[in-house]
Amino acid sequence: MIQRILVTGGAGFLGSHLCERLVNAGHDVICLDNFFTSQKTNVAHLLGSSNFELLRHDVTLPIFLEVDQIYNLACPAAPGHYQYNPIKTIKTSVMGSINLLGMAKRCGARILQASTSEVYGDPEVHPQVESYRGSVNPIGIRACYDEGKRVAETLFMDYHRSNGVDIRIVRIFNTYGPRMHPFDGRVVSNFIRQALSDEQITIYGDGSQTRSFCFRDDLVDAMIAMMGCEGDFVGPVNIGNPVEFTIRELAETVIELSGSKSDLVYQPLPSDDPTRRRPDISLAKSKLGWEPKVMLRDGLQRTIDWFQSIEMADYRPPTPNYG
Ligand code: NAD
Ligand code: UDP
Repeated sequence: MIQRILVTGGAGFLGSHLCERLVNAGHDVICLDNFFTSQKTNVAHLLGSSNFELLRHDVTLPIFLEVDQIYNLACPAAPGHYQYNPIKTIKTSVMGSINLLGMAKRCGARILQASTSEVYGDPEVHPQVESYRGSVNPIGIRACYDEGKRVAETLFMDYHRSNGVDIRIVRIFNTYGPRMHPFDGRVVSNFIRQALSDEQITIYGDGSQTRSFCFRDDLVDAMIAMMGCEGDFVGPVNIGNPVEFTIRELAETVIELSGSKSDLVYQPLPSDDPTRRRPDISLAKSKLGWEPKVMLRDGLQRTIDWFQSIEMADYRPPTPNYG
């Protein structure tokens, strides 16, 4: 059935792909964004569609719309972006969630929160299961993001329990792919940008820390599956690729696939940088019948091809923090 769907953060990396999928499926899509870490070009190709509308708005401010579903993705996601104005980051998660949960309550809409593996902090449990409560430093430089997302989960659960709001929560693990901001400072975009210009590849720490990288198409499939999931299951559910790599292995793979002459250079590890991260996706498999299909080498090759196809000068670095 055709739905009226609001996607906050809809012009961003994941949001723009989600909007594209929903528009192509025939839904009436409102993309809302303040363009802090994105630009209109990410959704410019959708502007001609009669079932797509673009709104410049900040989720920390109230807004009144009539919708059936809300995907709440508005929040800077790269460490260099969310640490640039940490108070704004936490306001975005907390005030944004309150405003959108209020809208969901008023409209009777289903609302999905894009939460994060960062709710587990630097985890003592590996791989991370949803029942693990995490190990976040509440006063560290990542707290504005991690704690903001944790409070957002609390708000979602409380609106659900107290007001019967129809919620869904997904905990997203590192996701990459075409349309990542080339100057977001995240590891995949930094390594590809550096490799393609034969610059030194910046490894923070000794490169033994791990991450598990999910390709964006797999992630969008899971978000849509979770939004469509009927019954009592509201999450939180881990969404990510369970194959784990060290950051050094990632650098070596990017160099190999791009045919780069770059060397590796080691720089200090930022504080509170999680040592290891890998999702346990048993719950997503059993409740959503979902698991990722794209292997890292394939997804990286597609991302490298996209980086080669764009004009870097068309992208304004959202903050100076991109390494
Ligand atoms: P992104 O930075 O590309 O997208 C975020 C979007 O939100 C941007 O378009 C930005 O301009 C917008 N935004 C930020 N603050 C806003 C505000 N106050 N009001 C309105 N719009 C605002 O990042 P992304 O990777 O696409 O992440 C999307 C969502 O998924 C985020 O909520 C992020 O926390 C979550 N997530 C992403 C990953 C990942 O690896 N990509 C991992 C975990 C969670
Ligand atoms: N990292 C790195 N070099 C870079 C950017 C990041 O070694 O140029 C490391 C970072 O310290 C972290 C990992 O790569 O250990 C993933 O970083 P990212 O910022 O992509 O996301 P995170 O998972 O830390 O939020």
